[in-house]
Amino acid sequence: MVIGIIGGGAAGMAAALTASENENVQVVLMERQSRVGRKLSATGNGRCNLSNMHAALRHYHGQQPDFVLPALNRFGVAQTLSWFEELGLYTVCETSGKVYPYSDQANSVVDVLRLNLNRPNIELRTGFEVQRVRKTDDGFTVSDGNENISCDRLIIACGGLAGSKLGGSMSGYKLLGKFGHRSTKLRPALVQLKSDWKALAGLKGVRANCHIQVFCDSVLHSESTGELQFTEYGLSGPVIFEVSRDVCARSGSWSCKLDFIPELSDGQLFGMLDRKRKTSLPVQELLTGILHNRLGRVLTQAVGVSMSSTCDSLSDTELRQIVQAVKAFEVQIAEPMGMDHAQVTAGGVLTEQFDPDTMESLLVPGLYACGEVLDIDGDCGGYNLQWAWSSGRLAGISAGKEM
Ligand SMILES: Cc1cc2nc3c(=O)[nH]c(=O)nc-3n(C[C@H](O)[C@H](O)[C@H](O)COP(=O)(O)OP(=O)(O)OC[C@H]3O[C@@H](n4cnc5c(N)ncnc54)[C@H](O)[C@@H]3O)c2cc1C
Repeated sequence: MVIGIIGGGAAGMAAALTASENENVQVVLMERQSRVGRKLSATGNGRCNLSNMHAALRHYHGQQPDFVLPALNRFGVAQTLSWFEELGLYTVCETSGKVYPYSDQANSVVDVLRLNLNRPNIELRTGFEVQRVRKTDDGFTVSDGNENISCDRLIIACGGLAGSKLGGSMSGYKLLGKFGHRSTKLRPALVQLKSDWKALAGLKGVRANCHIQVFCDSVLHSESTGELQFTEYGLSGPVIFEVSRDVCARSGSWSCKLDFIPELSDGQLFGMLDRKRKTSLPVQELLTGILHNRLGRVLTQAVGVSMSSTCDSLSDTELRQIVQAVKAFEVQIAEPMGMDHAQVTAGGVLTEQFDPDTMESLLVPGLYACGEVLDIDGDCGGYNLQWAWSSGRLAGISAGKEM
């Protein structure tokens, strides 16, 4: 039996390796780029956060989030990590639950998958961009416009629209659309937020731990705690990705409140700064030793105190204003960055048209889909790749079953 797989990303490679465990199966893995796993090698800031020990239903979104359950139950985190170990990847779990390759290099994950694809019953076709798909009497024919490839069963693992420079495209939605599969509206998720805040230019590259509260038209919508990264155009980092889903989902006037020392109460921070007030340090050094130097100066300056004066000249009111700036700094959000910059696509092909126990289409027998092309997206922290492995493996094992 020949299984065609379109897309050599995380889900497609997991499907190919799993399907090929059946010796009677011949896999043809088609990838439009010149190499497999291009997006994978850019994940997790080059470290590849490949899974999360806390992977569970609450971390997934879509019209039917519980669609993930059969795949996660069958190929959950433990099974995924032991599968990777069998393939030759040594992984490490951080206290947060995030799993990374021990080498700390995303390329290790790609390499291990790529090397394992070198099996007699897997044919890898890179540079093969599928343009057309067709159901035939005894299976499927796919074509890149020059060459036709026939297969008995077909898995579509083309990924989503997010991250177009790394391979994100509309292709999977279009190919599945040819078979009558409908998609939801697509939105970016896990994406940076743009801001016109003038001080950003001076904060570019600064990282800070913070608690963020996000408001739409002054109503609190979501909050999160974690690492924030300043960029020249706005706010980035895991804590921003976490709240970006809400910002992308509705229009309105968005703003956020940043607490740069969530561990301390206002009173505790006031006490700490009050001790410094007894010194004749320049005001611009008031937050030195507490926050990143550049951030400390920007926050102090934002209050409007004279930066050339000394700490002992600060009034109680000014000190309280500085505490307020550290603990509840307000930033207006202009808009989320677009799909090109997003890590994942919210929305996708309707899951109600697929069997969650097999990933097979309910419209076209023998057709399967897995990974980001489906209307499932996960939180920041390794949940999206876990979905790619779990759904890819389930599609691979189901498609590889004897006819
Ligand atoms: C910058 C960045 C960082 C990320 N970091 C993380 C992270 O640390 N942890 C995490 O869990 N998730 C992360 N993600 C999300 C994660 O990478 C994706 O959710 C995951 O790769 C989806 O897997 P997939 O196989 O469905 O799609 P992809 O990995 O996108 O693979 C799809 C493949 O199909 C190919 N393809 C598409 N159309 C065709 C066609 N017509 N013919 C042939 N081939 C085709 C594409 O070229 C691509 O290689 C990140 C995403 C980005 C963009």
